[in-house]
Amino acid sequence: MSRIHLLSEILASQVAAGEVIERPASVVKELVENSIDARAQKIETLIRRGGISLIRVNDDGIGMDRDDALLCLERHATSKIRSSADLAAIGTLGFRGEALPSIASVSRFRLTTREHDAVAGTDIIISGGRMETVRDCGEAPGTQVEARSIFFNLPARRKFLRSENTETRNIEHQLHLQAIGHPSIAFSFLRDDRLVFQLPATKTLRERVRDLYGSELLSRLLEIAPSSGGSKIKLSGFIGRAGVSRQTRSQQLVFVNGRAIESPVVGSALKEGYHTALMKGQYPITFLFVELDPAEVDVNVHPAKREVRFRDPSTVREAVVACIRHTLESGRGAWQNQFRAPDPSPSAPNASPLDLPRILRTESVTAAHHSVIPSRERFRGKEPPKLSNEAPSKRATPQAESQQFQIIGVLNKLYVLMENKDGLVLVDQHAAHERVLFEELRRRMEERGAPSQKLLLPQIFELPPRDAEWIERNLATLQKMGIGVEEFGRSTFRLESLPPFLAASDPARFIQEVIDGLKSASNSSSPLRLAEDLIAKTVCRHAVKAHDPLRFPELERLIRDLLECDLPYCCPHGRPTMIQISLAELEKKFGRKV
Ligand code: ADP
Ligand code: MG
Repeated sequence: MSRIHLLSEILASQVAAGEVIERPASVVKELVENSIDARAQKIETLIRRGGISLIRVNDDGIGMDRDDALLCLERHATSKIRSSADLAAIGTLGFRGEALPSIASVSRFRLTTREHDAVAGTDIIISGGRMETVRDCGEAPGTQVEARSIFFNLPARRKFLRSENTETRNIEHQLHLQAIGHPSIAFSFLRDDRLVFQLPATKTLRERVRDLYGSELLSRLLEIAPSSGGSKIKLSGFIGRAGVSRQTRSQQLVFVNGRAIESPVVGSALKEGYHTALMKGQYPITFLFVELDPAEVDVNVHPAKREVRFRDPSTVREAVVACIRHTLESGRGAWQNQFRAPDPSPSAPNASPLDLPRILRTESVTAAHHSVIPSRERFRGKEPPKLSNEAPSKRATPQAESQQFQIIGVLNKLYVLMENKDGLVLVDQHAAHERVLFEELRRRMEERGAPSQKLLLPQIFELPPRDAEWIERNLATLQKMGIGVEEFGRSTFRLESLPPFLAASDPARFIQEVIDGLKSASNSSSPLRLAEDLIAKTVCRHAVKAHDPLRFPELERLIRDLLECDLPYCCPHGRPTMIQISLAELEKKFGRKV
């Protein structure tokens, strides 16, 4: 007896639906994408009980005539591509012709649609894939799709739905993606008859971000400067300032040619672009738009079209990394301004970086030359208290220095208190010092490679074969970092030199640490990048410790040097160097204002 038979049309489409429609949020995604492709100007989404009991998406797009309305429910029926050539350069969000039949096969489905100049529209009701009603209707032009009781006929799948709240969150996330991706379309979202958001059509992404997330978030973002030159990849949008991050990827929004996507390539480029501006394990906030020739991207990779494949991933990666770095550094001017003392400063700062060798002799910073300053003493930039043997600064006139910022004192031997026009600024002296040292060392290394000092006694060490092989491949990188290693037999090496600021009492362990550190960053592209990781680590140990008392001129210099950094807002580990407490916040706390 033969055992093979064809699946019924309905069952086959249910199987296919499993790929496209995983959960209520997938229904919302597909429907809203259809509305966008139909050139809607206004899209309304309504859900009940996390979308499990009802999803309704209504648009004012081009609508469909009776024939199309019937045809669009067939599998592989689409108006968006015709030939395989079209598949190579897709300009619409949809293209597979699978969403509507999939949704119709797993829900109680209703499509109401009408073209703008048509006398009547069409209303179609389908239940679990079976057509029940087709009739005329007099709805407004546009299209409305309703999916009720999702997976009512597929208990196995229904079981996998999460709580209503979780499903709602997923749906809301989908809508955020679409709304951010299309600011010129008005969006509204109703949950269980309560309005969650209503976004008017806007001209700019800035307004859309503000309407959706508020101006507080907007103030923590930097706009990506339009990329000049003839690059084939155009990047635009907003990204979080250095030190602004989230614990999840949920606000790391990336769009490729208008499509919200998840891309490991872009994800790791973002990470590298932020590098020391992001805390470990945190994710940046991005509203990043990548535009490139559609032929350079394959969107036909994932059933839900969530992932894309780039023809030339390394170019995309490099463009993103460069753009993020550039944007983060461009945020510096505004930050410096914020730091300034309330009095307007007539002259520009004229400071040069820290006297590095001195500060790197950590003992000198930590112990030798500090008399403890009474922390409540009030310091004014204008009249630096005269303290012992500190040489007067040769670089800037006291006048110019003094007006940049105003230090009020030090709290708990750790937080430098400063005043600016917005209120109070707290600077973490350790984090600030880390940043200053980090950038100085990096600069030196870029210029002439890290300084290297021959060890009096070269140290022999042995490594397990895998690490030995790694070292052999990376000798040049290590050299650039000032770490001189030579092979000394099988899996045995000799440590010849180290940067003077590194004191490795146990070289084998030190090297092991370096290897582990660098390996975990091994997908970074340049040796310099690898070296930065090492510097960041080292610098932490050498920077002013939390409770090292600093005298006023040192504090002043620290702040001044911080202001000169490329990325002053956070330490090399992505922790903030400073926190602003605004006068408005203080007034609220003191009950002066409600
Ligand atoms: P795809 O979007 O991949 O083409 P769908 O199954 O989502 O496949 O939709 C099938 C077709 O139905 C679309 O190609 C489009 O022509 C039409 N359609 C779907 N939704 C709408 C809508 N909201 N407004 C106008 N036409 C629509
Ligand atoms: Mg579609």
